[in-house]
Amino acid sequence: MKRPIFESFRRIVVKVGSSLLVDPREAKVKRDWLAHLAADLVEAHRRGADVLVVSSGAVALGRSVLGLQSGPLPLEDSQAAAAVGQIALARIWAEVLGDLGVTAGQILVTFGDTEERRRYLYARECLTRLLALRAVPVINENDTVATSEIRYGDNDRLAARVATMASADLLVLLSDVDGLYTAPPAEDKTAKRIDVVPRVTADVEAMAGGAASQYSRGGMRTKIEAAKIATTGGAHMVIADGRVASPLARIAGGGPCTWFLTSSTPVTARKKWIAGSLEPKGVIHVDDGAARALGAGKSLLPAGVTGVEGSFARGDCIVIRNRKGGEIGRGLVTYDALDVARIIGRSSRDIEGLLGFKGPDEVIHRDDMALNGD
Ligand code: GLU
Repeated sequence: MKRPIFESFRRIVVKVGSSLLVDPREAKVKRDWLAHLAADLVEAHRRGADVLVVSSGAVALGRSVLGLQSGPLPLEDSQAAAAVGQIALARIWAEVLGDLGVTAGQILVTFGDTEERRRYLYARECLTRLLALRAVPVINENDTVATSEIRYGDNDRLAARVATMASADLLVLLSDVDGLYTAPPAEDKTAKRIDVVPRVTADVEAMAGGAASQYSRGGMRTKIEAAKIATTGGAHMVIADGRVASPLARIAGGGPCTWFLTSSTPVTARKKWIAGSLEPKGVIHVDDGAARALGAGKSLLPAGVTGVEGSFARGDCIVIRNRKGGEIGRGLVTYDALDVARIIGRSSRDIEGLLGFKGPDEVIHRDDMALNGD
């Protein structure tokens, strides 16, 4: 099975594990290593790719600074550690990227921000805007407010959710292992690294074991969970050893790592999700011209809308019907039902005047729409 070409990816999420970033003896970030990694990231950024970082290390850094015990921490201790560590972490990322002329933007998310539709949309918009402005989002879980019942706890799965949220086509997990082995290598000396995993099957899951090192919450199990999330969302994923100077260049050059392949793309995965799994909250009727434009791959503009039914909110899934009442597709609306009603048939230029705020030009963006027969 062939490995994908690293340079072909347009939007890359790179997850950096705590054990790579933090030197526990000196209670600080391994700055030289990070500066090398930043150079690697900036190279992808200069080539035109969008780059997002999911950085662990807040708890590991804070616990060293505060002199907290090793081993698992009680929730309030890990919250305190994260509060201390996150400041330093964000500053160092801003510095190492800034030294190379790239702006960093910190985003701290909770489980609810990625799982609750409305908040998900806001987080997604913020990411999209930062990327359009060519900044590098540096993301972590908001560990200071995350409670034990509702949190990721590991940044592997968080990074995979960020990858789907940002419609990334590649997720790179950098840690202190160079890939998935046929069995946990610490337990089985004959274990071999796998180059390419075409699909995450039960056999693949069984290879993961349960191991996690002292500083990372993850281990192979959460990485396989991440692979499932990312590949279902249309992103390839790669696990590689981050302890070398330029880990991304090494992946690009065919170095040791494990690729998990997706058979989809972020856009088709999203369309499938829209077509299949959502309860529509309303209906938007469109005229013949709009129906034709949608068929040709265009977004739905208010000018082509002839009617609206239901009391949906921005971000909800609605059914699109043609003049004869036939369903032609489904999509996620960018305005609440009341606002759509106020801009029916009008030009996108008039939206601000009619609603009193400047929203998107389209009522449904073409990437958020699944047409029947797509
Ligand atoms: N969010 C945690 C931190 O920044 C890391 C979780 C993990 O190690 O995956 O310390």
